[in-house]
Amino acid sequence: MTTGLYYSPRYLAHEAPGHPESPARLETAWGQLQRYGLLQDVAVAEPPPAALEDLERVHTPAHIWAVRALAADGGGWMDGDTFVAAASYEAALLAAGAAIAGTDAVLSGRQENAFALVRPPGHHALPDRAMGFCLFNNVAVAAAWARARGGAERVLVVDFDVHHGNGTQDIFYDRADVVLFSTHQFPLYPGTGRLGETGVGAGEGYSVNLPLPPGCGDAVYLRAFDEVLAPLARRWRPDLILVSAGYDAHFSDPLANMRLTVDGYVGLVERLCALARELCGGRLVALLEGGYNLGAVAASVVATCQVLAGQAPIGDPLGTPPAVPAPRAADDVLAAARELHHIS
Ligand code: ZN
Repeated sequence: MTTGLYYSPRYLAHEAPGHPESPARLETAWGQLQRYGLLQDVAVAEPPPAALEDLERVHTPAHIWAVRALAADGGGWMDGDTFVAAASYEAALLAAGAAIAGTDAVLSGRQENAFALVRPPGHHALPDRAMGFCLFNNVAVAAAWARARGGAERVLVVDFDVHHGNGTQDIFYDRADVVLFSTHQFPLYPGTGRLGETGVGAGEGYSVNLPLPPGCGDAVYLRAFDEVLAPLARRWRPDLILVSAGYDAHFSDPLANMRLTVDGYVGLVERLCALARELCGGRLVALLEGGYNLGAVAASVVATCQVLAGQAPIGDPLGTPPAVPAPRAADDVLAAARELHHIS
């Protein structure tokens, strides 16, 4: 079985000079994938754009039209930090399209798993609003497609970006068929993702948030996956795992204060692949979200693709930060999450 890699050079035309969410993020990652020979070992494909009906499962027509109109006008700002360039509407359709194409390939059994190397990212985008560098919510579009068109009964979204996946949570907050597990630094942008945000109505208990204090490293994240995510995933029994793979919890990231290493991301992705094999035939699609140190994003993308393709990861070219004890408050968050979600 193969691993799919979805990418389009048109993602590079989405650009605002000086902005941290830059085309160089993908150019550097693509270059490293080439350098390590990964592009020979995975099935590389250019995705088609998402159809309007695919976006409209999670976004209002007014929001879609606002992005399109601003791009057609030459571009501008949707909020203080979220830009649209002339080519951004097309790039955003292709990012959502990559999420769908990977999900389609995996659910139909043509590929075991897939990585969507995309931008703009998606997990902050709300039904009616762009937010936090995100125009359309790629992972939510894929999850909704999997339910409506892909034959999936239950989709698990795991979001290990350092920021809370507030858009994804908002879109599925009252649903039990798309469940969200998010680790994030707290407090930090966007300010949501508290432990007590667990869903409403039919979705009660299906949003699981781990708001971790600054300074957490590999050990805390691996415990979060082993002690909270794994038992919940076994309870939920998803038939697809989608991953909002942001790499801004890396210790070198300029926008946050966590201490993950590339080896730490390898450990997280290995656990996700093991859960996918145990629960859903290995079906897993990871999508790039944030990550703003170019070298860390590139090395983490390479390592993630190597794990997905069943190869031994390259080793951590960025090394580890000086050892410090994990913040004690992290223990409290993990214990509280286990109690809140009835994990014995
Ligand atoms: Zn982020």
